[in-house]
Amino acid sequence: MDWKNLSFGYLKTKYNIRSTFKDGEWSKPELTDSEVIPLHMAATSLHYGQEIFEGLKAFKGKDGKIRLFRWEENAKRFRHSARGLLMQEVPDELFREAVFSVVAANKEFVPPYGSGASLYIRPLLIGTGAELGVKPSAEYLFLVFVSPVGPYFKAGFKPVDMMICREFDRAAPHGTGTFKAGGNYAAGLRAVEKAHKEGFSNVIFLDAKEKKYIDECGPANFFAIKQNIYITPESPSILDSITNKSLIQLAADMGLKTERRKVPVEELAEFEEAGACGTAAVISPIHRVYDPAEDRTYVIGNGEPGPVSEKLYKHLTAIQLGDETDIHGWVTVLD
Ligand SMILES: *Cc1c(COP(=O)(O)O)cnc(C)c1O
Repeated sequence: MDWKNLSFGYLKTKYNIRSTFKDGEWSKPELTDSEVIPLHMAATSLHYGQEIFEGLKAFKGKDGKIRLFRWEENAKRFRHSARGLLMQEVPDELFREAVFSVVAANKEFVPPYGSGASLYIRPLLIGTGAELGVKPSAEYLFLVFVSPVGPYFKAGFKPVDMMICREFDRAAPHGTGTFKAGGNYAAGLRAVEKAHKEGFSNVIFLDAKEKKYIDECGPANFFAIKQNIYITPESPSILDSITNKSLIQLAADMGLKTERRKVPVEELAEFEEAGACGTAAVISPIHRVYDPAEDRTYVIGNGEPGPVSEKLYKHLTAIQLGDETDIHGWVTVLD
């Protein structure tokens, strides 16, 4: 495996793991080497979007041990998403067993320490019951697969340019925005494609109701730094990022004030630093934000990552790798 040149894409590993919910019970998770799913053509996941997922990473430390970052938070959010789409919740213990077993079964695919790469873990839950009427399935498949991935951005920790989107929404207040549902991604594709076509790295979605406040940053949360304050949007349509939650804690540990509140678009002019945050990239610093409605470009910083973003990035990745003391108990070592 060419660990240094991995991209963020799917690579076949040895095993994935599956458990099915039927007659009111979850089956014992089983490893398989098959990459396909036998699925009824009338499954609710195909027609009515009963599909949710998660994303987390395993890292190999200097000591050769494999570490998982905050898996309990992913398990909790997975249950939250399931409740939101009236799907069967996966108990935390089953989530843990499946995730840890599939990582252990694919040990040789966890990239070595120092490669900058990691093992991406993708839990998936789909409605498998055959229905034609709109109603929740009585049967579910819970599957976890893994794939070694390189750093999200090949160019490294470099600031990117974003475009504001007013034309399309990814989610509405009181809709499905707080759930990690595939449907939200499908809903956002047109906006993301438009931003890509115009040369931007991704899109900044505004709140769907008033189009005044920053909501999400493509598939990531938004944060900014101003006068020693870590600011991140409060909104009823944001997916609560575990990376963001962790950065808020680390910012507080570093002595910054932290605020979760509405962030008006115009405030972009006042930020000293801004970034998108999520498991895939940890932090992507933001340099420019283009607002097509006003034909205005907000420039944040000088094109290099800001000092606070850089400190936060180093701090979080060091904890994930086991290079720094895990004072918050975020890391689980695989035995
Ligand atoms: C997964 C996801 C994030 C990032 O969450 P993390 O827990 O930090 O990986 C942010 N926004 C959306 C829409 C997501 O689906």
